Amino acid sequence: MSRAAPASALARPWRAEAPAPPDLEQPLKARILIVDDDERNAFAAVQALEELGHELVVARSGEEALRRLLTEEFALILLDLHMPGMDGYETAALIRSRKRTRDTPIVFLTAIFRDEAHVFQAYSAGAVDVVFKPVDPFILKSKVTVLTDLYLKTEEVKRQSAYQQWLLDEHARVKAEKDLTERALRRTEARQEAILQSLPIVFTSRSLEPPFAPQFVSESVKDILGFPASRFVDEPEFGSSRIHPDDVDRVVDAFARAAQTGRYSCEFRWLCADGQYKVLHDQGVVAAGVDGGAREIFGVILDATDRHSLEEQLAQARKMEAVGQLTGGVAHDFNNLLTVVLGNIDMMARKVEDDARRMRRIDAIRQAAERGRDLTRQLLAFSRRQHLTPVTIDVNVLIHDFAPLIRQAVGEAVTVDLRFADEALCAHVDPTQLETALLNLAVNARDAMPEGGVLTIATRRDAGRIAIEVSDTGVGMAQEVRDRVFEPFFTTKEVGKGSGLGLSQVYGFVQQSEGEVRLDSAPGEGTTFHLLLPASSTPAEVVKPSERVKTIEGGDERILVVEDDPTVLALTMDMLSGLGYRVTTATNAAEALEVIHSPAEIDLLFTDVVMPGGVSGVSLARTAREIRPDLRVLLTSGFVGEGAVIENAEFPLLDKPYEIALLAAKLRKLLDKPGRGKKDRAARGVAAAE
Ligand code: ADP
Ligand code: MG
Repeated sequence: MSRAAPASALARPWRAEAPAPPDLEQPLKARILIVDDDERNAFAAVQALEELGHELVVARSGEEALRRLLTEEFALILLDLHMPGMDGYETAALIRSRKRTRDTPIVFLTAIFRDEAHVFQAYSAGAVDVVFKPVDPFILKSKVTVLTDLYLKTEEVKRQSAYQQWLLDEHARVKAEKDLTERALRRTEARQEAILQSLPIVFTSRSLEPPFAPQFVSESVKDILGFPASRFVDEPEFGSSRIHPDDVDRVVDAFARAAQTGRYSCEFRWLCADGQYKVLHDQGVVAAGVDGGAREIFGVILDATDRHSLEEQLAQARKMEAVGQLTGGVAHDFNNLLTVVLGNIDMMARKVEDDARRMRRIDAIRQAAERGRDLTRQLLAFSRRQHLTPVTIDVNVLIHDFAPLIRQAVGEAVTVDLRFADEALCAHVDPTQLETALLNLAVNARDAMPEGGVLTIATRRDAGRIAIEVSDTGVGMAQEVRDRVFEPFFTTKEVGKGSGLGLSQVYGFVQQSEGEVRLDSAPGEGTTFHLLLPASSTPAEVVKPSERVKTIEGGDERILVVEDDPTVLALTMDMLSGLGYRVTTATNAAEALEVIHSPAEIDLLFTDVVMPGGVSGVSLARTAREIRPDLRVLLTSGFVGEGAVIENAEFPLLDKPYEIALLAAKLRKLLDKPGRGKKDRAARGVAAAE
């Protein structure tokens, strides 16, 4: 039965074992076989040859000699001719007949056959010499030396040639092995090249130093981006020059951070050779460079355009769903409050009622309208279109000052535990919105702990951001709830208890502040909301608590009101006239500019921001200021649309809807300010023509 080869033989199947080279240092020795049946004769021979230093072996018969010659190598055989059993002739004939011993010289020793016939017979049996006994040691030594020297020389030549052969073999073997390795390497290289070439991935290596010049770009780049790899390597700025301008900072940032974190990942748009942008996903690691050189960034670039557009479609679909939900929710809430408003107005129009009753109706209408106002504020917060007034605040201070209100909101059953970081944590946010967010979170926590519990608000610095953690020991949320909590109008609370807008506000506010909200929750394990806000390096400003307006103060200055909605315009006119002001009106920017160009006296321009006709209240205000540098300006808006971004604090702004008290206070504040100086104008870059 055939057996499998042992494992060791299979380990390197293609590689021949290297044979050991012949050892040239090993001294060569001659072995001499002395064959004699007479012990004394043998001893005499041994004695005679001992001093030559060869190895002497004695055999006591022809048979024994032949046995030894089967396996051993001898330089010379001294053979007694006259022996009982097999005699010298016979033995020599057999030695000669064997291939292995055919050339081994035989010297006959004889005492008896000294005649010529015997000597002749001896030579024909293959002897090289015949020595007569008793042996003269000197003669024997000389003869043996000649023969062993010859043997040793021959052996040396054989050994040298074996060594040469070994060298040749070894050379051939090494070469074969090298060829094999080279072929394997070339195959590996070719395979890698084929992989690099055919995968829709670009492999890159770039320097760790700005501008992160590419050192290697795989040829596959041609298929994906339309430019050959050499373009990227030869022109270090080429790759970055075609990144979408809005994405450049992000990419540079990602590479810069790679030096610290050891890895990077970013997505950006890149202008391909066909003039189209592709969305590329680039990610990689920092590693020691090739041949242990300086560290490099190794990366792979994938075309993420398809995935990205799918994601966009999905996001769009989600948005549509949210919008549907939003409209439904808004309609429901507004219908309710409009029912209150219209119903009460209807009643008031239909019959004359006493003052107390009328006041109750007006109160109900006001409450409904206020709910409508709050609702739109929350919606704006969610759509991230609200008007934020960010200032730098110490989050610890804000929470500390706001804590009494939180305690009141959660009630006695809930313990409020505040854990502030030891350092000041300055963030640039709208303080009112942050308070509202905290309140929304606190109220949710309270609702989640009907039996009471602990509400913990902790602050700390987290990787360059300010973290506020609001956690409760309440019922927690299942995954299905967790996934939807930030959706507007999503609520699990019964009708009348929850609006579903609390977390939308939190989400919208934090997003608009360029922060991030995270959420940990599981059923029965409580909930933690993490608000991560960008830290500010400037010290906190002192924020005055918004003062409640007590007395309403009017004036008699001239105000130009610009408003496109006739009912709002009429109402504003009423309010302003009621306060004693002299009012001029315009329904769009062009009309307003006519007034400003005219000699009419005007102290203050009060304009809506979003107006039809393409000119926003902001640009109207700017133009007006150029014509009348001393003109005071107050903007008002119900919505901060993208087309009407108000550069921070360029003009004061009053949010719509506003109450008369707040409007009156704002106007007085502006009108009572000492006249605008040249400094302001210079600051706006308007040439002061004095
Ligand atoms: P509302 O409180 O009006 O329901 P929110 O937007 O504030 O609306 O919250 C949405 C939903 O998220 C809640 O109805 C509730 O199911 C869940 N939720 C919010 N906060 C918590 C909390 N701390 N623990 C458990 N569930 C919560
Ligand atoms: Mg809530």
